[in-house]
Amino acid sequence: MLIVMNQNAKPDEIEAVISVVEKQGCTARPIPGGQRVSIGILNNKGPIDPSLFLALPGVQDAIPVTRPYKLVSREVQQEDTLIQVGETTIGNGHLTIIAGPCAVESKSQAMTIAKAVKQSGAQLFRGGAFKPRTSPYSFQGLGLEGLKILAQVRETTGMPVVTEVLDYENFDMVEEYADVIQIGTRNMQNFSLLRRAGLAKKPILLKRGLAATIDEWLMAAEYILAGGNPQVILCERGVRTFVDHSRNTLDLSAVPVVRNESHLPIIIDPSHAAGRRDQVIPLSRAAIAVEAHGLMIEVHHAPETALSDGAQSLYPDQFELLCRQVQDIFGTLQPS
Ligand code: PEP
Ligand code: MN
Repeated sequence: MLIVMNQNAKPDEIEAVISVVEKQGCTARPIPGGQRVSIGILNNKGPIDPSLFLALPGVQDAIPVTRPYKLVSREVQQEDTLIQVGETTIGNGHLTIIAGPCAVESKSQAMTIAKAVKQSGAQLFRGGAFKPRTSPYSFQGLGLEGLKILAQVRETTGMPVVTEVLDYENFDMVEEYADVIQIGTRNMQNFSLLRRAGLAKKPILLKRGLAATIDEWLMAAEYILAGGNPQVILCERGVRTFVDHSRNTLDLSAVPVVRNESHLPIIIDPSHAAGRRDQVIPLSRAAIAVEAHGLMIEVHHAPETALSDGAQSLYPDQFELLCRQVQDIFGTLQPS
């Protein structure tokens, strides 16, 4: 249930609603909006009687929430969530491009790529310090040394940095260095990690699990919001299907569905969806055409020597072309 307060509801009227919610053994979550405050009711065991609230001063409406996810749903918050990272705003009306190598390999590698992607129009730099690899024998990332390199990249280029957290144990360390914390596809339902992300003060980029439905993905985001962190960016990165012409199948239909269901921003990672360089630019154009709020692209100055995901990494000149093309498409979609 969502309690919608009048535009001019007073703080003590809001408090009174919260205390009725708590007397029912539930949790009240005030959601400030542009015009009015709403109060979401969490942890209820069954339906709640709206008449408990409708007669209280300052209450405009009590609306049952029909979706299993609440805080992430448009039923609870109609206005789009905008997430500020440095000078970049992520969300409706903005095109955010995040780019960088799959893994941070060395300071010179990260710096070379960061300068190139910045010049082409990337606003955020992404590189993995902790890599989730299918094989335990593959390069696992530089760990703390990689995080320190990312901090140097931020210092030198001014670009905020995005990097993945793999486990609960390293969350504090990643949170200290990252501007945006990525939770990867294999961890989408790692519930202790999601709960920890709910306590974080930094935005979380939550990738869709490789076999997750949209409901499961939004429920994973709900863990983070319910834990107290409203800053979640959803990232579609392809789901597993029977096809063998690409690593995964990019589910672009997720974009209009998520935009209808949720106020959270959604971006597309065509690199991990495709697994091969030649599909990345066309898929990026399509992603912006279906009104994703941004892209996350793997770029490497020497992909043939990359320690991970070289085959899907764009050369810097291809990335430049991609940026120009998607900016053009984005421009045509803006109200004139
Ligand atoms: C990555 O972003 O480098 C990555 C490993 O992605 P995913 O979790 O989507 O496989
Ligand atoms: Mn990768």
